Amino acid sequence: MADYTKMWSDLGLDLATHDAVLNIVGKAYQDVFLSQKNRPKGMEYFDFVMSEVHGLRIKELMDAKAEGRKIIGTFCVFVPEELVLAVNGVCVGLCAGAELGFEAAEQYVPRNTCSLIKSVFGFKLAKVCPYIESTDLIVGENTCDGKKKAYESYKDLVGNLYVMDIPQMKSPSGKALLKAEYKRFADKLEEISGNKITPESLKKGIEIVNNKRKAVKRLAMLRATNPAPISGLDALLINQIYFYDDPIRFTNSVNALCDELEIRIKEKNGVFNENTARILVSGCPMAVPNWKIPFITETSNAVIVGEEMCTGERGTRNFVENTGNSIDQQFDYIVDRYLKVDCAIFTPNEDRLNHIREMVKEYKADGVLHYGLQFCQPYLHESMGIEKSLEKEGIPVLRVETDYSQEDAGQLKTRIEAFIERIKG
Ligand code: SF4
Ligand code: SF4
Repeated sequence: MADYTKMWSDLGLDLATHDAVLNIVGKAYQDVFLSQKNRPKGMEYFDFVMSEVHGLRIKELMDAKAEGRKIIGTFCVFVPEELVLAVNGVCVGLCAGAELGFEAAEQYVPRNTCSLIKSVFGFKLAKVCPYIESTDLIVGENTCDGKKKAYESYKDLVGNLYVMDIPQMKSPSGKALLKAEYKRFADKLEEISGNKITPESLKKGIEIVNNKRKAVKRLAMLRATNPAPISGLDALLINQIYFYDDPIRFTNSVNALCDELEIRIKEKNGVFNENTARILVSGCPMAVPNWKIPFITETSNAVIVGEEMCTGERGTRNFVENTGNSIDQQFDYIVDRYLKVDCAIFTPNEDRLNHIREMVKEYKADGVLHYGLQFCQPYLHESMGIEKSLEKEGIPVLRVETDYSQEDAGQLKTRIEAFIERIKG
């Protein structure tokens, strides 16, 4: 990596802590990803992106800012990237997946807050995230209670927070609320960028994001084959990079990887053998560098074949109908697509269980590992009903509740190994 010290210093990062974080993540990346056998060559691009995730990508964001483009940071797949692109902005994900600055974070949020929210505070307070510091606007959303209340104090830390309301029911009034909130967000984007959204610019934005979603769907479908052509770890990494990379370059790189995987599939060249247990992971999102569960699973004689998560198919499935001729019609189509996201904040939320069933069938999974972050009320609640329903249908389920620490890694490994034995038996 080139020397980016000046850029990081200009962004106000704490250089010593930031260096330490890069070293820890670099070592983890080596152990978790680069140690895998027989990886597709197309993963080299994603390895490169990760090696430059705080370097070249941030430089690109700085260059975009110099051209007058606005950087919009997000924490949730409910924030439509289509609208950001329609004002020539850049969308970046800000969720963090490491236990960092938690003690300081607990001065702002209660101890019994999920790791994902704590790390959002921790990364800001420890001054280690160049993405947060690059943003012109950070978008919070009223999804779970934890996030909703946390944004009330987060706004004092960042100074550029905008909060979007999100419905909790998929009713006609919920739909109207989402449309009104997307319009309010569009107004805000127009105001800060000085660019007006036109039917043409929105059409282009929708097309770019649809293409990105099509590419990850193509990748997901290839994982239905046995032997699996790519590891779950590598697929998760791609789903995580989805939130950081330039969308067009990302789409091209995923499609190039899929071309290679299609050849591998013809040659029956898998990353695991055909008898390996196939696991679907479902639950809370996994932000970089949260690779704990997939790493344990895939080093326990199993392969992950799908992610029912926001860093996975829940976040990326369904496309926006792109035939709207007026802004109003285009907004209706955008709302239609986003209202299909079956986040556990919705009640009732039967669609999610149906989607898990579909995914089990489509990707030929032998069992479901439900991943819930400690203190995450919405997903922990749903995990119980999901387990009962799927087990009744003969689909084995393992529910795990964990956090970002490594303290429970040994215990988790024992439970996951026992689950895999149960499946194979
Ligand atoms: S789990 Fe819900 S709140 Fe979290 S990113 Fe997904 S949609 Fe947003
Ligand atoms: S993991 Fe759960 S509690 Fe944490 S932010 Fe997401 S929905 Fe909220």
